[in-house]
Amino acid sequence: MNTDADQTTHGGDTAGSGEGAGRGEAASSGEGAGRVNLLGLTREQLQAYCALLGSKPFRARQLMNWLYKRGCDRFEDMSDLALGFRALLAERAEIRLPQIVSQQQAADGTRKWLLRADESQAFEMVYIPESDRGTLCISSQVGCALDCAFCATAQQGFNRNLTTAEIVGQVWLANRELGFEPAGDRIITNVVLMGMGEPLANFRNVVPALRIFLDDLGFDLSRRRVTLSTSGLVPQIYRLAQEINVALAVSLHAPDDELRSRLVPINRLHPIAELLAACWHYIDEQNGRSVTFEYVMLDQVNDSPAQARALARLLAGHPAKVNLIPFNPYPGSGFRRSSDAAIGQFRDLLLRGGVMATVRRTRGDDIDAACGQLVGRVMDRTVVRLGSRVEAAASRVARASA
Ligand code: SAH
Repeated sequence: MNTDADQTTHGGDTAGSGEGAGRGEAASSGEGAGRVNLLGLTREQLQAYCALLGSKPFRARQLMNWLYKRGCDRFEDMSDLALGFRALLAERAEIRLPQIVSQQQAADGTRKWLLRADESQAFEMVYIPESDRGTLCISSQVGCALDCAFCATAQQGFNRNLTTAEIVGQVWLANRELGFEPAGDRIITNVVLMGMGEPLANFRNVVPALRIFLDDLGFDLSRRRVTLSTSGLVPQIYRLAQEINVALAVSLHAPDDELRSRLVPINRLHPIAELLAACWHYIDEQNGRSVTFEYVMLDQVNDSPAQARALARLLAGHPAKVNLIPFNPYPGSGFRRSSDAAIGQFRDLLLRGGVMATVRRTRGDDIDAACGQLVGRVMDRTVVRLGSRVEAAASRVARASA
């Protein structure tokens, strides 16, 4: 399967016996040896941090310029900062990036990196080049607790949230890997939180990362080109609406609660009507254009003409578009991809029903880099799945409302 893939393994993966390997890895989460990882700080936090070090807050601007505009990760190279301040930063702070464990390149140019989170855990990011843009798909958690029936990430359970520095570090690192030059063209034009994890279940670390993506002193990305995808954590969608303006994508995958609860178990807590109300609220609040509804095409499960019509009835007249994702299989998934004919017909019925719809082109599937194929590497972990907790919560709700 992987014959077109060029797989290389980077050095630096041999720390097993070295001293402090474990502690060193833990430091990659940003809090190593009491140092502050500057990649985890928003502009305001960096200003406060500079003030804390007895420096002027405007130093934060210079630091961000080095970090994000020039791609510099060494304090000693930051030549317009006073030597004393550089020395102090080197002592107290760090610019720590996730370590690359391995990388692969697909026949279509898609690239995937496996990144180290801790000694025994890793997560993935994927770069998808297109003629008019470059999209980086990043992870927000190691594993995922949401337990969606068709998703490979779900099968590994949840291990931990990524820190803000690890989320920001992915974009920083990808820029470097892709040959970013300070005065050159932008390589990464779009960032999508569609890798491993449920971003809204890691709200606390994800929102500051989004701020750094959008900040003109940070990656300076357009808010329409930063997309957060959620399986439908309704309360957090309302919170997000208060906090930040990015493009919202929602994994819908079914037009009715009965089926959606089977495919996306969080639906038992937050059914479709509630979810859609939260989406329209988000668009109102943020003056957004539309919510993108992702819909994975599963043969004989959710791809019938009747289901297309039901979906159109649900969304027509609202600021919505649908992105149909051909299911990407993996061993033991238990699902099959819908036929091209079924996908085409489904899209046409949505369009006829007044709903904008597109089909997502599959990219990087020869290196398992396509949607839902990211599994990272997790050992030594407790599998936490949402399923049982959802069941418990749903029965409490049912009892309370009985
Ligand atoms: N947890 C977030 C972010 C993941 S985004 C969310 O659920 O939205 C990844 C998208 O790919 C989601 O829409 C997800 O449902 C979809 N997906 C998962 N597994 C897939 C698979 N095997 N084939 C195609 N799409 C899949």
